[in-house]
Amino acid sequence: MHNDDLVTFTTRLLELQSFDRENSRVPELIADTLRTYGAEPAILERNGIRNVVACTSDERCLVLNGHWDTVLPSEVFEREVLSAKVEGETLWGLGACDMKSGVAAQCAAFITCLRRGIPGVVLSVVGDEELGGLNGTGFLVEEGYSAPYVILGEPTSLRLSLGQKGGLQVRVRSRGRLAHGAYPHRGENAILNMVRFFDKLLAKYPIPESGAASSEVFGQTTASIGVIRGGESVNVVPDRCEANIDMRIPPHVAVEEVQDTLRQMAEDIGARIEFNFLGYGWQLDKAGRIFEVSKAAVEEVTGELADFVQKMGTNDGKYYVFHGAQITNVGPGDNKLSHTAHERVPLRQLFQARDIYVRMAEMLAA
Ligand SMILES: [Zn+2]
Repeated sequence: MHNDDLVTFTTRLLELQSFDRENSRVPELIADTLRTYGAEPAILERNGIRNVVACTSDERCLVLNGHWDTVLPSEVFEREVLSAKVEGETLWGLGACDMKSGVAAQCAAFITCLRRGIPGVVLSVVGDEELGGLNGTGFLVEEGYSAPYVILGEPTSLRLSLGQKGGLQVRVRSRGRLAHGAYPHRGENAILNMVRFFDKLLAKYPIPESGAASSEVFGQTTASIGVIRGGESVNVVPDRCEANIDMRIPPHVAVEEVQDTLRQMAEDIGARIEFNFLGYGWQLDKAGRIFEVSKAAVEEVTGELADFVQKMGTNDGKYYVFHGAQITNVGPGDNKLSHTAHERVPLRQLFQARDIYVRMAEMLAA
């Protein structure tokens, strides 16, 4: 796909809404476009989420993974949201950054791979990343669309992401005994129980002073208390309190160990605990072929030394970790603009991302 066609395709992707995922036409646009270039894509659906897959051959060597769902930053933005536009050397629109530009670059790269006869390239464009990915990448990996090498196209300004943390959501429910507020000694305060839990939690996982400790790329395991509910009335000692906690876990830390630690803390205050495990973290393996190839491709295409970035969130890489894949993440757009009303991408990065993906596919297939 030439530069002009790539800009047109990306613009059309931006002009179709994709935050209301079940009612989006984006998967059809992607599939139709791929067909125009001779590919044979399939749309695989689970729970109303449609995902587009295409393969250059029956082998599985490299997955190009992107997501077409977007996040609407505010209601105000909704009115203007589908007006994509090119201004100078920049393309604006919701998802220009996270991550329709990455998706367009991957589709364009896939078409080139198909035309050059590069075997084993799998294109996976999923509709469920922003809300966890079970019906997107999780589903496609279950269906066998995995490979030894994976390129995620999430925005990094074409820097190489060093990896992602794993995610664990925790729900703690502490019980107490009701009593009149004038006689607190007669009851057992469920909120105070929870405060004891928080003390233990933050003693073990203190809030770091900055994003990452200087000694380690990923910093430490972090705990963020996101929701707390408890008590009904000011004059009643509460008998229930619930807290929801967001844990982010570096790839070298065992998730099971964190769960054991939290379970013990909950037991100490007689609380119940439940986990919603979002997935393991992954780390760019600097001894791996994927590192060598992504660094070489970035340097060849951009003419500059590869740069690195550390992201703290969780992404779809988590689904490939189970299969022992080597993962890298390099994509167009500045991640700081993701999920904002200012999403945009420099056109040069869009073109270069396409070329980087093609070069990586060529090198990995060689
Ligand atoms: Zn994203």
